[in-house]
Amino acid sequence: MARSVYVDGRYRRYAEAAIHAEDRGFQFGDAVYEVVEVRDGRLVDAPRHLDRLDRSLAALSIAAPMSRAALRHVLHETIRRNRVRDGTVYLQVSRGAAPRDFAYPAADVAPTVVCLARASRPERIAATAAAGIAVRTMPDIRWGRCDIKTVMLLPACLAKAEARRHGAREAWLVDGDGLVTEGASSNAWIVTPAGEIVTRPRGPEILAGVTRQTVLDTAAALGLAVVERPFTVAEALAARETFITSASNTVMPVVEIDGAAIGDGRPGPVALRLREAFGRYADHASK
Ligand code: PMP
Repeated sequence: MARSVYVDGRYRRYAEAAIHAEDRGFQFGDAVYEVVEVRDGRLVDAPRHLDRLDRSLAALSIAAPMSRAALRHVLHETIRRNRVRDGTVYLQVSRGAAPRDFAYPAADVAPTVVCLARASRPERIAATAAAGIAVRTMPDIRWGRCDIKTVMLLPACLAKAEARRHGAREAWLVDGDGLVTEGASSNAWIVTPAGEIVTRPRGPEILAGVTRQTVLDTAAALGLAVVERPFTVAEALAARETFITSASNTVMPVVEIDGAAIGDGRPGPVALRLREAFGRYADHASK
């Protein structure tokens, strides 16, 4: 099947799709993005992702490229053309193409929109979740506005590469006070020995994950108390269980941090319960 990608109003084969050499996303990382889970051909939590896209665009004074209905149409059409039933859809909006200059271009420069969809193997993700993953901690060297979902992802790439070098799938980033901010591409959670579910509060140091918010709602619906406060690496190492959340992995148990087993070294009951509850929610989620 020839895969198709949306670039500025047209669906093209990959080999024929092109971005302008002076697109500001390419030269300055002057672009924002979203990754939305596709489950059974439907978008999970689309309104929350599109709300966050609006916030990212507004924070950088990038004009909305089209109406929300039109964006939704692009997302659905990209999924349809690529016959993705389960996977993710990626949407990127840059400030557009203009002669290279740090200052913003004139207001009539149109944003560049790219959308692509990719199938995943749900059974493989489920097998990974059944085993749990390892994470590696490292200093958070990112900038001061991690709440904006920009494509400036080099620190995350470096962190993931370092994690992989140590056999871990994810990096947990640690601030100057020894507190975990979040994963390189996920939000970080612990369950304390007292049974308290803890995740860092929203703020400029983390991305307000859509999955994070839905898991907060899910936990509340299950009657599980969540405390939004920062936690240290030492607290995570001593936790009963730990896990991460993201659109592509939903709730993913973490069973090892820096080579040390968490709890009994197996996915914990709270993470598995939240994962299952999220799955039930997502199966009935927005179209
Ligand atoms: N934090 C960072 C830095 C991320 O890149 C991501 C995934 N895009 C998340 C958190 C999780 O966000 P979401 O649940 O919206 O995928």
